[in-house]
Amino acid sequence: SIPLGYFGGIGAASRNGILFKGANFLDLVTQLDTVVMDKTGTLTEGVFEVQEVNTLWPDEQEFLAYVAAVENFSTHPVAQAVTGYAGKVSLQAEQVQEIPGHGVKGLVNGREVLAGNGKLLRQFRVKYDISIDAVPETTVLVAVDGSYVGHIVIADKLKADAAEAVKALRKQGVKRLVMLSGDKDAIVQKVAQELQLDEAYGGLLPQDKVAKVEELKAQQRKVAFVGDGINDAPVITLSDVGMAMGGLGSDAAIETADVVIQTDQPSKIATAIAVGKKTKQVVW
Ligand code: ADP
Ligand code: MG
Repeated sequence: SIPLGYFGGIGAASRNGILFKGANFLDLVTQLDTVVMDKTGTLTEGVFEVQEVNTLWPDEQEFLAYVAAVENFSTHPVAQAVTGYAGKVSLQAEQVQEIPGHGVKGLVNGREVLAGNGKLLRQFRVKYDISIDAVPETTVLVAVDGSYVGHIVIADKLKADAAEAVKALRKQGVKRLVMLSGDKDAIVQKVAQELQLDEAYGGLLPQDKVAKVEELKAQQRKVAFVGDGINDAPVITLSDVGMAMGGLGSDAAIETADVVIQTDQPSKIATAIAVGKKTKQVVW
């Protein structure tokens, strides 16, 4: 039978907005030496705002209408920022495909529209000014019929407790803090520096995140992964303790997680470890 202390631990966690899906994870969190976090939605709000629209077209509204028409088919936070900013759009897109980790592609007025990151444009061999990739903000590059026609700069914010989360994790003895993201490296490195993380990798596809966590596990590390996206479900499953943001998180992330942070606060990762340690004192 499960010792009473474990029930106490699960209850204490729950009062802090942390859902442990099994008593064994209370013990596992105390062994963690590496915490790997997703950027968007985990350390940042995941709510983007349009900062700047740059287009070669004379009519910015028309440019925005083309982009919004295809982004309308995507639920990605980046897409939501763009469609929200464009407002009510009269153009209708067809045959829209979402290309995970890249962006979207569709037909508008019979013209092929690509909206996504540099990787997407490179995949379709569209030439663009690569200095855009160095802009330390998320950018949506747009191509129509194979030519670059503009880009939209959008920005996210660090969560209010992101810095505190890092401090609290170090205090709990976590040795290695890593951030993995599908977003461009320029913004990923900026955030990592602001938060003083040990390592950060950008431009990753979902399978690259899996490979990174596999690499860490192969080094005999006890690894937690914390994420929110549909794409994060495989790494959540793979890690020793998989965590998901409960409010913002996708259903897939929440379902596969061992621990759900219902308040979406990254500082609760350290709280979960602290509760695990307290429970251990009671149990043993
Ligand atoms: P992450 O959640 O780590 O940013 P994703 O795999 O969801 O990873 O997305 C990676 C990148 O792909 C985004 O940062 C963005 O640049 C681009 N992207 C994904 N979906 C879209 C979209 N619908 N429109 C524009 N860009 C997108
Ligand atoms: Mg994400």
